[in-house]
Amino acid sequence: MEHDPQTLEEAREIIAEQRREIEELRRKALTDDLTKLSVRAYAKARLEELLSEFSRYGQRSASIIFVDVDHFKEINDEVGHNGGDEVLRQVAQVLRSKVRPSDVVARWGGEEFVLVLPGATSEQAEVRAEVLRELLKNIHFGFNPDLRVTASFGVASARKGDTVDRIVGRADTAMYSAKQAGRNRVCVAE
Ligand code: GH3
Ligand code: MG
Ligand code: MG
Repeated sequence: MEHDPQTLEEAREIIAEQRREIEELRRKALTDDLTKLSVRAYAKARLEELLSEFSRYGQRSASIIFVDVDHFKEINDEVGHNGGDEVLRQVAQVLRSKVRPSDVVARWGGEEFVLVLPGATSEQAEVRAEVLRELLKNIHFGFNPDLRVTASFGVASARKGDTVDRIVGRADTAMYSAKQAGRNRVCVAE
């Protein structure tokens, strides 16, 4: 509206419109452009909340799964950068396919993803990671039927007094062990 509001009704309409615009900006800022997953900052903020709840009340577990696509550099070399982008979109779609409403699936950066699973024990998160591992290796890419993609997974669960950096560090270390052990597998942090 270009003129000053003349009535209470008009003023309310302007405020409502501004709220919608702010909400839309917020949604955009928290969404990764390529994959439409959450961005890293959102996953970290949610994890921060869960860890503080966990440390305060202790009874509800929380786990995370760190996912890194295997040999993605080679995939890019094989199918080109646009093909690589399409692979990331389809990987993201699979990661999103088995989530509950309270879970967060985020693109951590590049070809790395994080799932935040409120209430999940280490065993439950491991089972989920196994399901996703199996689904990823069976993706068929329309643009290149011979292409196969796998990923390595690291699982970590909340501990008393945990910080976001520590739990992510443990999941990342577990993921690295999965790489070392031959990739396309799930490792759980000790
Ligand atoms: P590893 O199995 O050890 O994880 O090997 P890798 O090749 O997956 O790991 P590396 O970290 O060496 O390479 C990751 C590659 O991901 C390099 C980078 O060019 C590519 N990459 C990062 N972001 C994007 C993106 O948005 N799109 C595409 N197409 N490629 C990306
Ligand atoms: Mg990586
Ligand atoms: Mg990788």
